[in-house]
Amino acid sequence: MQTNRPKKQYGQNFLTDEHVLREIISRSAIDKDSIVIEIGPGRGALTKHLVKAVKHVLAFEIDETLKPYLIPIQADNPNLEILFQDVMSINIKEEIEQRFNDQRVACIANIPYYITSPIIFMLLETNNVTNASLMIQKEVADRLIANPKTKAYGAFTVLVKFEAEVKKLISVKRGCFYPIPAVDSAVIELTKHNTYKEQCRNHELFRQLVKASFGQKRKTLLNNLSQTFDLNKQELLKKLQLIDDSYTEFTRAEEMSIDQFIQLTNGWEL
Ligand code: SAM
Repeated sequence: MQTNRPKKQYGQNFLTDEHVLREIISRSAIDKDSIVIEIGPGRGALTKHLVKAVKHVLAFEIDETLKPYLIPIQADNPNLEILFQDVMSINIKEEIEQRFNDQRVACIANIPYYITSPIIFMLLETNNVTNASLMIQKEVADRLIANPKTKAYGAFTVLVKFEAEVKKLISVKRGCFYPIPAVDSAVIELTKHNTYKEQCRNHELFRQLVKASFGQKRKTLLNNLSQTFDLNKQELLKKLQLIDDSYTEFTRAEEMSIDQFIQLTNGWEL
């Protein structure tokens, strides 16, 4: 085994601030009966609190050299299960859905920042994951909570908010970690809901339209959509105006609310 020096390639910045750790536990939607998954337990800073607060913790850790920190926690807490695996190399949706059937699962984690968006989308796809409290880079948190007509608003915002309510729980300064990272962080809460999904007829088309609409930041909605879907601009503008007559050749994706993207999706195939 290699040394236990924190590994940059795995995004190892360990949370050392006890106040932040306690805040994560107290502000997360979990209780004594909860089942929790933790992605990247590291040296167990958060894990130690989680095992005391909930019924069962399943942790995924890529780095086996952290065993000397994690195995003793497991020995003292039989409700902790650790899989030393790369969370990106397994089908987490299948793993969680099969293991816990239809039981509700929360994800509470200080995740590795280099795979923030794949982890978020993985959690959104996993049916029995109902909510998550995730420590992420501050700038990414800002993108998730952004409103239309702001710089941080984009496809990522719309795709995540389509499936979950997003709330910023805690701001966390870089000095709360060892080693100190180059960025500040925030804990966000994702609470899944079906409000938008129920209104939208074709979820896959919704995703395609959102990604295409934001395709190139400087381009208009018309230019982005005509390029991706290989459509004549004039005909496309007519099609858009049949859906909503407020569309113009100057409309931009960053002005559009999630409701407007749903309206666009529902009208697109008619
Ligand atoms: N939770 C710990 C804490 O708060 O101190 C550690 C957080 S650290 C930001 C991220 C953790 O994720 C590290 O322990 C790292 O080894 C682990 N990790 C990185 N990539 C991973 C992957 N693909 N699968 C599972 N764990 C991973």
